Amino acid sequence: MAGREVAPLARCHWSRADRGSSLVGVSGAGVRMNIISSSYGNDSMSLIQWAHERDLPDVTVVYCDTGWAAPYWPQRVQDGERLAKKYGFATVQAKSLGMKELVRMKKGWPGNGQQFCTAHLKGVPFLQWADENDVDCKATVLIGKRRAESEARKLTPEFIEASEHHGGRRVWHPLYNYSDEQRNMLLERAGFDVLPHRSMECNPCVNANRGDFLRLTKGEIERVNDLEVEIGKPMFRPKRFNAIGIHGVVVWAKDGRKRANIESEESECASLFGCGV
Ligand code: SF4
Repeated sequence: MAGREVAPLARCHWSRADRGSSLVGVSGAGVRMNIISSSYGNDSMSLIQWAHERDLPDVTVVYCDTGWAAPYWPQRVQDGERLAKKYGFATVQAKSLGMKELVRMKKGWPGNGQQFCTAHLKGVPFLQWADENDVDCKATVLIGKRRAESEARKLTPEFIEASEHHGGRRVWHPLYNYSDEQRNMLLERAGFDVLPHRSMECNPCVNANRGDFLRLTKGEIERVNDLEVEIGKPMFRPKRFNAIGIHGVVVWAKDGRKRANIESEESECASLFGCGV
């Protein structure tokens, strides 16, 4: 896993004509697979509900295990998978090498400017599974990204015809124009409450905000601290929080001191595989 190439992969480029014109991927050879790339956060859950209400055919929901989720997140994943299965969708958990091994391998943390975590923890396992199960790259990859989520995602397109980061597959963001209210109505019909935070597939995420830091459990703080000590580098750049190490960052979060809006710092990397949605 660690040795896999993570640069943009584009082995299956093909023309729009090859794909046929249907949005849900019906080709001459039959129904094309629809793959929901899910982190089981609010937007992912609402996308599952949306796919059910649209009778989307041949759906598989793929979750990538980053090895860095919040302790309670596996339960959320189970709940999400239960709903997906109830709707007749297949579910898959794709294993990554895990954040700890990644940080050890890179001898450093992912962060602004070099956000390699998305490629290794989500991109690689997702593509490995997709390449084995959709060898000719004809599947459509659905991601629950919405323009209303953040400044960084305000230009989210409905389609990316041949995404180089998804093996040349078509990427579809069906909820790209959905408001929070519309998303919440989908969640309500799915029987899920709206979470007051992003997906906890990685906790803390490199894009964590003040609320995320305040929600960290003692165990999660120590997990970061242990790795910081092991590699001799803090997870969060000291200049960002005027603090060295996770304990200092948590103190900053409790202090309430001001800093720039972290939402605007989210890199395009995190956006590619729908981190947090
Ligand atoms: S951007 Fe955040 S959620 Fe995405 S892989 Fe990196 S740490 Fe995990």
